[in-house]
Parts: sequence; structure tokens; C-alpha cells
Amino acid sequence: MNLHEELAFLRDMGFTHLSVSSQLSAPSSQGTLLDELRVVATACVKCRLSKTRTQVVYGVGSPNADLMFVGEAPGRDEDLKGEPFVGRAGQLLTDIIKAMKLSRDEVYIANVIKCRPPENRNPEPDELDECRPYIRRQIEIIKPKVIVTLGRFALQSLTGKSYAITAARGQWMEYDGIKVMPTYHPAYLLRNPAAKKEVWADMKQVMAELGI
Ligand code: URA
Repeated sequence: MNLHEELAFLRDMGFTHLSVSSQLSAPSSQGTLLDELRVVATACVKCRLSKTRTQVVYGVGSPNADLMFVGEAPGRDEDLKGEPFVGRAGQLLTDIIKAMKLSRDEVYIANVIKCRPPENRNPEPDELDECRPYIRRQIEIIKPKVIVTLGRFALQSLTGKSYAITAARGQWMEYDGIKVMPTYHPAYLLRNPAAKKEVWADMKQVMAELGI
């Protein structure tokens, strides 16, 4: 995206006071672009989830990450802390990342829905639609080599198709020229620990792709 396209995007997202003269002429770094988008996302009131959230849960990690994990939506712990995957499912994701010989700081972690759905209900189709531009733009800025989608809603939001996750997991897909590995959501693994071996098989494919 050039500067004018970037500004048009930010204006579409409700950041109305920006003008070209207020921008530096040098290309922005990935970190700066992510920070600008965070400002827009943090003020978002496009859907009903903005009324019940404590705070927007935008994303965390390296702006230059080769590997990005995309989850569903914040739960109670994430809503309170403002960071994705910090509850029980988050601890399991952190353990998976460590088992891959990586740290949370080296990857990027975000959700397709930035605000907690009440009582952790499933996201509604219109909420996925309203929130999709944020994850799309985060991916566009970070340009990871591999995206791991966690659970069916993350895969559905990025691909626009509703796959059965049991059939889709472990099969390479593509999003915008980026390789996508769908796998089970860590919350599912908490309920079905036997499925951990399938997730590990999926992560081994990711590690091979990234040369880890
Ligand atoms: N589940 C998700 O999908 N995302 C989080 O951030 C936490 C739990």
C-alpha cells in the first residue's frame, strides 16, 4: 500500500482527521503501521461487541514475525488484560510456541475478533465481517511467511469458507499468497488433550516450512 492508499484505509476505518501533510514522507515501519492501526481499532464502535468489552484486544508480538497465530476472539482474561491468549488456552498456546523453539515475542498473535463476545459465545457473521479489515491489515503489514489459524472461526474469517476443522487441519492452504496451516484451537485441546498430537504434527509442518 502506498501512503495515499494507507490514508484512505485509515479514513474508511473511521480515522477521519488524517491528511497527507500530517504524515512523514519516508515509508513507515511495520511497527509504526501496526501502532497506527491499533489507534483506530482501539476506538472501534462498528459492532455491538464494543458496548460490552472492557477493552479492545488488538495483538501482540513482533511486527516482523515470520509466523503469525490467528485465534478467534478474546475471552474474559484477555478482555481484562488487553492481550490475546493470556488465559488457560493462552498458556497452552505459549507452551506450543516454546515447543517450537520460539517465544511469544518472536511470533505475532492476534484474533479475528478484537472484542470479547459476551459469555464467550460464538462470533456472529456480521461481527466477523465488521472486524475482518483489522486482521487483514495486520497480516498485510506483518507479511508473515506462515499463518497458523486456531479453530474454525479464524479459518472461516480469513478464507470466507466454513470448513469442518477436523477435515481442514493439517492441510496447507493459502491466504493472499501466504501459506496457512489450520489447526485446532487450544481451548479444544484443553477439553480433548488427545488431539494435542495432531496439533504437534501440524506445528512440525510449520517448523519445516520455516526451517526451524
Ligand atoms: N481464545 C482465542 O481465540 N483468543 C484469545 O485471545 C483467547 C482465547
